[in-house]
Parts: sequence; structure tokens; C-alpha cells
Amino acid sequence: MTAAAVTKRSLTEDDATRIVTEVAKTCPKIPALITQHTRCGKPQCRCAAGHLHGPYHYLRWREGRFHRRRYVRLLDVPVVQAILEQRRTDRDEARQDEQRALQTWRQLTRIAQDAEARIRHHQEEP
Ligand SMILES: [Zn+2]
Repeated sequence: MTAAAVTKRSLTEDDATRIVTEVAKTCPKIPALITQHTRCGKPQCRCAAGHLHGPYHYLRWREGRFHRRRYVRLLDVPVVQAILEQRRTDRDEARQDEQRALQTWRQLTRIAQDAEARIRHHQEEP
């Protein structure tokens, strides 16, 4: 196969799935999976009369000031949904861990303050 043929070769289904799942897994914020119906703009098309094209699925997320989105083929929707669900679960668990760590820190701080107060009180006694 020539180099040109290789670069022109369309993505295999596996490649496309791998790319879209990689985006779902790695983009910094958990993306939203959105569904859209669209008008193509041709005046004679059924969509002009309200029978829109779709549904089309996209991952949408923000990177700094930029909104980004990536098309998700229908056959990839279930695996993408599962990845996003897992990321939300992981995020929620991480938040709960943080909360527990913060509570522990506050308890330890109180214990230390109480101990200091008792020591000071003890030292001030004649
Ligand atoms: Zn149309």
C-alpha cells in the first residue's frame, strides 16, 4: 500500500470507537453527551417542513474559553455513556473522600486546640 493510500484510508470502526472513548475518558471536564436534530438547509428537504434529521449524538465539553464537541456514532453511544457514568461515580467518590478528610482534619484541630487550652490553663495555675 502506498503512503497516499494509507493516509486516505478511512478510519476503521475500531479506530473511531477508540478515539471517541479516549475523548470521553481523558477530556479534563466530564463531557456532556447531547442529542440533536438538525435542518440541512435544503428548501425542498423534509426537514424544512419540520421533520428534522437525526438524532445525532455529540460529546460536548469546555476547554478554557472554548466549547468543543465531537460526533459520537450511534453504535458508540452505549460505551460512551458507560464511561461518563463511571467518571461521575469516580468524581463523586473523590469528593466524598475529600469531605471525610476535611472532617478528620477539623476534629484533629479541635483536639489539638483543647489540649493546648488545658496545658495553658494548667501552667497558669499557681
Ligand atoms: Zn434536510
